[in-house]
Amino acid sequence: MKAEKTILPGSTLGMLGGGQLGGFFAEAALRLGYKVCVWDPSPNAPAKRFASISFDGGFDDKETRKQFTRLVDCVSLEWENVPASLVEILEQELRVRPGSRSLRLAQNRTLEKSFLTGQGFPVADYEVVDSKMELHNLSLPLPWIIKTATEGYDGHGQWRISDRKSIKSVLNVITGDGPWVVERIVPFMMELSVVVSISSNRNCVTYPPTENIHEDGILHISISPGRIEKSITESAQRLAREVVQSIGDPGVFCVEMFLLNNGDLIVNEIAPRPHNSGHHTIDTFSVSQYELQVRSLCDLPLVNPIRNGDSVLLNILGQEAMTLLKPHVANTVMGNDYARFYFYGKESVRPGRKMGHILFTGSDNETLLKEAIEIHGQISNQT
Ligand code: ATP
Ligand code: MG
Repeated sequence: MKAEKTILPGSTLGMLGGGQLGGFFAEAALRLGYKVCVWDPSPNAPAKRFASISFDGGFDDKETRKQFTRLVDCVSLEWENVPASLVEILEQELRVRPGSRSLRLAQNRTLEKSFLTGQGFPVADYEVVDSKMELHNLSLPLPWIIKTATEGYDGHGQWRISDRKSIKSVLNVITGDGPWVVERIVPFMMELSVVVSISSNRNCVTYPPTENIHEDGILHISISPGRIEKSITESAQRLAREVVQSIGDPGVFCVEMFLLNNGDLIVNEIAPRPHNSGHHTIDTFSVSQYELQVRSLCDLPLVNPIRNGDSVLLNILGQEAMTLLKPHVANTVMGNDYARFYFYGKESVRPGRKMGHILFTGSDNETLLKEAIEIHGQISNQT
């Protein structure tokens, strides 16, 4: 295989998307001596706080594309809805990791599911429907979760149906155009996510699985390491590695999975980027998922992440950020001995929006979980 050129510190890394994931990437890149150029149509995107130069043009703006291409030495991304067509154009002149292939898979659940099943990976039973009316004729056993094929995130674009009687009422609330992926709801024991970084010569490193607790389809708490047996840890890491190797693009990926009661694992979805459930890798591993994103992009060696502690991550969602920032709440909550605070610098609050997170670090994740639940009680209380 042709050796890829190493892009050394001092170079400028392009980042498509300016959310918190891009911000953490930029921090890791800056520490390693790179400059970062962020392109995000939103002028106040969080990652721009760390950029040496940034662009606000729309992703379809040709002039911005020209300037961005001229300035950067290579490109990564932090948001799967960056237009794959833009990435295809950039790929003609620049190294983009991950590339349009992974992006196209992640942008369309129908493609993602058929890719996973085609490669023999286990997924929840599912059907694809192009029109809502087809739901009446599905033989897939209920209960279902209906997911929009494109642009879903944080549980947006998902509807649950428990029995046939409710199909009619759900038809009235489903928005958008098809197709939709209809999945059987899996009675999982636990949700896990595994972050994998893969180099251009297919060398892979993985983190131990993180245990994730969602509320209303949004990630609420992530526990690292997940409270599972060693054999499950190993099979989850193996499965994630195989999934990422089968895609074949270098970069950082997260494979979300469900652990069933019998110990089987099934793949839920793939994110072609670092993951919210992996923010703790900044604090509790020798190398963070963001540094691995920089390393895999630049063809620096991938090193094995070594864990130096347990952690529990509590997402700060929507209004919780405002409650936390009331002086009397901040004074108590920010005095917690285990807690490290991250605010993403987002200016507007929307219900369920990820505004920041609190990472509880220590040597025993059961203690940390109690702290996280206690603090969540304080910030979710509106008074
Ligand atoms: P995100 O962007 O936060 O990863 P998303 O909107 O892309 O989420 P999914 O990850 O597919 O959507 O689903 C969100 C959550 O809904 C899952 O983490 C899980 O808790 C639940 N869920 C999804 N599919 C199923 C299923 N088949 N059975 C049971 N629960 C499910
Ligand atoms: Mg998900």
